[in-house]
Formats: sequence, structure tokens, C-alpha cells
Amino acid sequence: MFLKSTVHRCLWLLPLLLCLSGCAGSLSRLELERADLEPDDLPGVEHVAVTYFGASGLLLRRGDEAILVDPFFSNPGLLRTLAGRIRTRPDRVDALLPEVDDVSAILVSHSHYDHLMDVSHVALTKAPRAVVYTSRTGTCILDSEFSRADALDRLKAMGDPPCRPEVDQEPLKPKEWIDVTPRLRFMPLLSEHAPHFRGRSLYGGTRAQPLGKVPNRASNYRKGRVFAFVIEFLTVTHDQTRVDFRVYLQGSASNAGQGLPLEDLKEFDLAILAAAGHHEVQGYPGSILKRLRPEHLLVSHWEDFFAAPQKPLKTVRGTDVREFLDKVEDSRKELPKLGPSRLLAPGSRAVYPVRDAKPR
Ligand SMILES: [Zn+2]
Ligand SMILES: [Zn+2]
Repeated sequence: MFLKSTVHRCLWLLPLLLCLSGCAGSLSRLELERADLEPDDLPGVEHVAVTYFGASGLLLRRGDEAILVDPFFSNPGLLRTLAGRIRTRPDRVDALLPEVDDVSAILVSHSHYDHLMDVSHVALTKAPRAVVYTSRTGTCILDSEFSRADALDRLKAMGDPPCRPEVDQEPLKPKEWIDVTPRLRFMPLLSEHAPHFRGRSLYGGTRAQPLGKVPNRASNYRKGRVFAFVIEFLTVTHDQTRVDFRVYLQGSASNAGQGLPLEDLKEFDLAILAAAGHHEVQGYPGSILKRLRPEHLLVSHWEDFFAAPQKPLKTVRGTDVREFLDKVEDSRKELPKLGPSRLLAPGSRAVYPVRDAKPR
């Protein structure tokens, strides 16, 4: 009986494996930007630079105000991920991550391995000032590495108390602003994660106790709570706080109505939306785009993250990225301000002038 139910439970994995092993797509119908711009490529104009690392890894920077999201570079291969042991590749992180020693925060949208597994190495060796904001599940998974480095105070749980009750922490609630610096803040929003394949999901669930070891399998990285984020770059004067650039960011596709920002947040300069799994949810990305009405759109999580960085780029397995872009076009008539959808090659950077940008 047990064997029968186990076999039955695992049967859906077979078509998933067949699909994943063969269906990373070509880039032939996509306009990909490979622009390794320096921050001064918008000379003399105040701007926010957004560097895309692959999966939903991003660095957002204005001058010396910077925030990292889901940094991920190790890209273990498909078979190793599904059946073997995975680990951070410091050589890849060190080769592909620019200087981030001034980064103040690392946001984690959920705790699957392709969002969380490189966070310890990045935070503990590359971004020593950064506080990591993740779910309680995320803090439980990272507990071993951060406690070994005596850095548990840099691990903050959003939405729940932290994994270790003895860690003294103000509760971090969704829909409340978290100040990273006086000129940079973010708001976590509860969101959801598209299924991986025909309504089924891998590595779901949560953790409420420390994992008790350095994670070394994809199954150690339970999804936990899923967050979207609003990130704001600000100008603060003695009598007012002005928003210079407002970003909405999702690390995974979600059904219409999920992960929405507060009603009073209206003007969005940039939306960063994940393409992976868009066909597994309803109303995505049209619904969220119509709510945000952004000026710019950057597409994330669009490439095959099982491939080593030196391999030719392909699209994410099991997802038709062109179809995602077509859905954006279908919504465009209701989005008069929206510029072209942009797809960056990992390692590339896009720069956007801030509102009312003045020469520096
Ligand atoms: Zn995920
Ligand atoms: Zn992912």
C-alpha cells in the first residue's frame, strides 16, 4: 500500500524530469540585451542601476545606496539538483558578483535553493554590512552557517518570529516599511509561487526549527513564505521625504490578486517580474501590470539556471518566454506609459533616471 502510494505520488515527476531534461528553449525570438554598462553610462544624471545576475538575482544601486535580491550564481546542474548534493560555488560567486561591500540589505523572495543557497556566502564574505531579510523558513535553513559565523543578528525573519526565539528581533510585518538606510527602504508583501509543472510544486512547506546542518540538498530548501517587494529610493530633507524611484519586484509568478502593493502606492517607475511558470497561474502578468502601471519592465527568471555560467544561454525550462512577452503586449493598450519589455543577459545592467532627475 505504502509502495503503491509512493509510486503514485512520484509518477508526476517522470514527465517533469523528461521535460526539464530536454526543454530549455533557444533565444531565437527574443531580443536580449547584453549591456555591461558602467554606472556612469548615464553621465551626469541621477539614476538607479539594476544589474541582473540570473534567476531572480538582482543588484539595485543609486550611488552608494544598494540592495541585493536573491543573489544566485552557483547554478548546480539538473541531475545534481534533483538527486545529488548541491553547494555554493565560491569561484562562481566571486567571479560574477561585483563589489557589494557597501550593500545594506539582501532580500530573499522565498527560500528555494535558486534564491537562497548563495546568500550565506554573499552575506558573510562579500557584503559584510548587509542584513538578510527572509522568511522564518529561510532563517532556519541559514541558521547553521550564520551561527557558526556569529552573525545570527544579521538574519531577520519577515512575517513570523525568527527561527531561534532567543534572537532579539522586532517583528517584521508584511505591508510595513523597513528602513534599510535613511534613503532606501522596502516593504515586503505576501505573495505566492507558481507551481513548477502542471499544477504540482517541488520543495514546498516551511521550517520552524533550525535545519541543524549546512544545507546540501535542494530538498533542504523548503519554499517558506513567498514575498514580493516594493523598494523605494528616497530624498530626505528637513521637511519632507520624496520618492525618487519606486520598484515593484516579484521572484516568482503569482495568480491575479496576490502580492499586491498597498492601494495608496500608485506611481511605479519599474516592475521586475519573473517569467518562469507564468503559464501555471491565472492573469499573470497582465493583472499586476495593470495595477502597477509602471514606466519600465524588466523580465527576470527567464533563463535556464541549471546551466553553468560559461554555457550558451537558453530560456528557463518548461516556460515559453516569448508567450510571457506576448501577454505583456496584450495588456499594453491599458498601460500607456510602459516602455519596452527588457530582457537582460546575466551580468548585464540597465540604468534608469530617477524622477525629476537633475544633473549632478
Ligand atoms: Zn521557487
Ligand atoms: Zn526560482
